[in-house]
Amino acid sequence: MAQAKKHILPFFIPHLGCPQQCVFCDQHKIAGQRPPTAEQVAQAIADLPVGQQADYDLAFYGGSFTALPRERQEYYLEPARQALAAGRLAGVRVSTRPDCINAEVIELLRYYGVDTVELGVQSMHDLVLERARRGHTAAQSLAALRQLQAAGLRTGVQLMPGLPGESLAECWQGARRLLAERPNMLRIYPTVVLRGTVLAQYYQQGEYLPLTLEAAANITLALKMLAEDCAVVVIRMGLQPSDDLAEQVLAGPYHPAFGALVQSLYWRHKILWALCLWPHTRTIYLAGRDISAAVGHRGQNRAYYARMAPELALKHLPTAQNLPPGALLLRQADGSDKLLLDEDFRQKWQPEKELLK
Ligand code: SF4
Repeated sequence: MAQAKKHILPFFIPHLGCPQQCVFCDQHKIAGQRPPTAEQVAQAIADLPVGQQADYDLAFYGGSFTALPRERQEYYLEPARQALAAGRLAGVRVSTRPDCINAEVIELLRYYGVDTVELGVQSMHDLVLERARRGHTAAQSLAALRQLQAAGLRTGVQLMPGLPGESLAECWQGARRLLAERPNMLRIYPTVVLRGTVLAQYYQQGEYLPLTLEAAANITLALKMLAEDCAVVVIRMGLQPSDDLAEQVLAGPYHPAFGALVQSLYWRHKILWALCLWPHTRTIYLAGRDISAAVGHRGQNRAYYARMAPELALKHLPTAQNLPPGALLLRQADGSDKLLLDEDFRQKWQPEKELLK
């Protein structure tokens, strides 16, 4: 039987616990909320739809949860502990810094039923971490991840391509080291410049150039494919969009549909790769669910296809026929068909060579 989809009941604790300010960060602008009270947390749990409570994870994001004083952590976690005991919650997640994980912290989290910890790793290069004023090292990220895994907790990691001083190739190499540790989940947040941050000063002084949207989509796709090869689930690509956030972005690769852009990019490469293999393709048939990603955001992929095959048409496969997810059926000029399965493309295409040039 299919597993019920997990829902998240998110609470934002902007900057709570953070020992210093990272150069790129302003959680008030990203999340746009004040920290909740424990009563509000308890009330939100009580308000979950009857009969569906056990499908929800409570989550604390936007700060350094385990860097909070112990009493403050317990204050927030007690409503969760009670709800878990009563079967009114599935699990609890917190996000925190890698240098704020130790045996005592883990014992506390486990006592209160926290089962997932997300670590803001951001980069696996110490010089980059230093320039971003992160206040921890890559070795601390690996140590924290291993300690959490050894304790049986589910783990998530966050990476930020485009931090000052890190090339795309270095970002990818660092991700390889990190993902080889097999965290459960990955979030990819290409660096954007928010007004009022230290990074905004660097940018305005000409000391920092953010990634273009295209470069950010390229590295994100490369990281996503790397993660999937390591059986790590990518749960987010790009910042959660909002009107408030859009107003606060001074520069950089922010896009409200960034994840969809990355998906479209994947399809663009797959179709261009297929056209190189079979240049006499006249029509590509796709399953209906894949058409919009293949055409791309606002149809932008069409221009790329037209350059290689001006007469190419993309069509829905007639409903009577089935295609596996992600597959292409390519009709040739002579009427014959070629089939490209997604797994064949994945095995042969090397994203790091194409995307990190
Ligand atoms: S990135 Fe994380 S640790 Fe740094 S200031 Fe923001 S919330 Fe705090």
